[in-house]
Amino acid sequence: MNTEPTTIAARLVIIRERIAAAGRAHHRPSDAITLLAVSKGQPAAAIRDAYAAGQGSFGESYLQEAMPKMDTLSDLAIEWHFIGRIQSNKTRQIATHFAWVHGVDRLKIAQRLSEQRPDDRPPLNVCLQVKLSDEPAKGGVDAADLPALARAVAALPRLRLRGLAAIPEATTDADRQRHAFRQLRQAGDRLAAGGIAVDTFSMGMSTDFETAIAEGATIVRIGTAIFGPRR
Ligand SMILES: *Cc1c(COP(=O)(O)O)cnc(C)c1O
Repeated sequence: MNTEPTTIAARLVIIRERIAAAGRAHHRPSDAITLLAVSKGQPAAAIRDAYAAGQGSFGESYLQEAMPKMDTLSDLAIEWHFIGRIQSNKTRQIATHFAWVHGVDRLKIAQRLSEQRPDDRPPLNVCLQVKLSDEPAKGGVDAADLPALARAVAALPRLRLRGLAAIPEATTDADRQRHAFRQLRQAGDRLAAGGIAVDTFSMGMSTDFETAIAEGATIVRIGTAIFGPRR
């Protein structure tokens, strides 16, 4: 018999239980880990189903895809997170329509987001994406340059520096994955020791979120395990 849950609501229940269990196993308070439902490649109707099942935060990677869905769903009180690469000609729309941005890795982008954040909205929550040693080709600030970037971003008036994000290479090697998450956590600890407060570690996806929670994740970004395959 196939016991895989087939509805978004049923899969959400299971993911929430797995997050709670991983949190308990690592002595994390029950409210320490937030589930971000990654809805890129999913239709607006699927987001509506998840929202009806109690999911409030959604992550999108592509502005052109996200904007029409956000418009369709504007009757819902969704907290939108931008988790994709940020092109400088897209910062105004990102600053206008999102509550969080996870992939900031350059001061120039942060400055534009701060300048363009509308005055009638609270400061934009920002996580800095850090380049980890296992992924030299990807985006992210070098660990050595992180303190200076964090200090500069923390000083921008319309941004709120919340923490760090890791978007590591997909791998089934749990040790490598764990090492990457641990590096991010340690980078955050060093910032804190230098007087820059961070309360967010955005790390962990469908296949590795329990490992990320073991290493201190506070936001896990989960797509396919909730929604099924992307279109
Ligand atoms: C697509 C994506 C996710 C979700 O990946 P799944 O494997 O579907 O859980 C998480 N974070 C980022 C940055 C993504 O682009």
